[in-house]
Amino acid sequence: MDHFPVFMAVAGRRIVLSGGGDAALAKLRLILKTTANISVFADDAAPEIHVWAAAGKLTLIQRALEPGDAMCAVLFYAANEDDIEDARVAAIAHADGAKVNIVDNLGDSQFITPAIVDRDPVVVAIGTEGAAPVVARKIKANIEAQLPASLGVLARIGKTFRHAVDVLPMGAKRRTFWSDFYFDAGPKAVETDGEAAVIPTLETLLDTHIMTREKAGHVDLVGAGPGDPELLTLKARNALDKADVVIHDRLVTPEILELARREATLIDAGKQGFGRAMKQSDIDAMIVEHALKGHHVVRLKAGDPTVFGRLDEEIDACDAAGVTWRIVPGITAASAAVANIGQSLTKRNRNSAVRLITGHDTKGYADHDWKALAAPGEVAAIYMGKKSARFIQGRLLMHGADPATPMTIIENVSRTDQQIIATTLAELEPTLTRAQLKGPAITFYGLAPRAAMDAADTLTPLEELA
Ligand code: SAH
Repeated sequence: MDHFPVFMAVAGRRIVLSGGGDAALAKLRLILKTTANISVFADDAAPEIHVWAAAGKLTLIQRALEPGDAMCAVLFYAANEDDIEDARVAAIAHADGAKVNIVDNLGDSQFITPAIVDRDPVVVAIGTEGAAPVVARKIKANIEAQLPASLGVLARIGKTFRHAVDVLPMGAKRRTFWSDFYFDAGPKAVETDGEAAVIPTLETLLDTHIMTREKAGHVDLVGAGPGDPELLTLKARNALDKADVVIHDRLVTPEILELARREATLIDAGKQGFGRAMKQSDIDAMIVEHALKGHHVVRLKAGDPTVFGRLDEEIDACDAAGVTWRIVPGITAASAAVANIGQSLTKRNRNSAVRLITGHDTKGYADHDWKALAAPGEVAAIYMGKKSARFIQGRLLMHGADPATPMTIIENVSRTDQQIIATTLAELEPTLTRAQLKGPAITFYGLAPRAAMDAADTLTPLEELA
């Protein structure tokens, strides 16, 4: 950085400019935004400059700059568009003690003027050290679009209101208040009723925020079950009935979202823009943000929220923000799936324990106690196991599992498009790849669909997959 950005105090101090043409006009338009005392020296000043002088916005002296003219000036602009004249006046101003800028001459200037987004007292200065004016223009346009036009007015009035907001506890509560003011309630008030509406808006908003402090928000971490709305718990339904905001996963079905209170805002946290879901930390922050506004947030997760649900991160975020929470259990995919193949997860004399395992974790394919799993009679429900099927198959066989061990894959459990595929450990792959499943699928190791089951005709015949 060859130029260090600072904001210079110019209120009531002198800024002197030499020149009366286009370059002078361009700079004056910027300088006139300040409360500085502006003098212009020009033999032949553009009509606009005469108008500004007549309006008392600047002092126009209709002659060339002479020694002493820039005395006590903090800033000086040489804007004659004439190298020789600019060099002459710059030397004078320098001797008079002003910081000098020669328009379009970076090398001989002591300072440069940035591109400005003006929402006074909020001012954004953009500089590229002359390297890329196009970039500066683009950034300026983007920021202009982002900042409400009324931001300046709001900031000016907001400043006078700061002490009143001390009644709110420091931190997130106060930040939420100000962000509501600057980006929501404030701009709306100015747009509809003008500047006079700002103070009343601040007062009403503060009342609301004081009240929501009493009516603190709350987060229900709710299990939505595997998809069939009838597999929701009554507690889950009641929570959905009362929700102000529902933040849901990609796997939660539309039929279940239908049940949310009409006025509730639905947010898809599993939205896959460019194939990527929202980051967990962003979801945590979003949950807390809505709760701190005093909202009843329902964080709706597929199945049971405590099973492979990254629940603890969300709970930690709530705790850190002092937001109350409650877990509403749901029917996990394994429970619903095992019901639909007519089996039990545990069975006397077969397996006295069942494992819920994941095919992969944050580090890639997940490792498990393969040796223990390879023993006869073991049962495991494998979540997120589509991609890792070959890995799991390989590990189990390597540790001596019987190749004939039954495996059952159930896709879209409890939904109208549920599909059951019965196979064996030896055949798991390529069966799974051939099936080309699009929906969520759970795989049981050590369980086959009960033979006599009515649901048997929902089985996809293996030949079809071959
Ligand atoms: N909390 C969820 C699991 C989330 S992990 C639960 O308790 O069910 C996501 C995995 O769950 C999916 O990859 C899939 O293996 C399984 N899953 C969730 N819903 C499912 C459904 N309707 N049918 C089949 N598998 C499902």
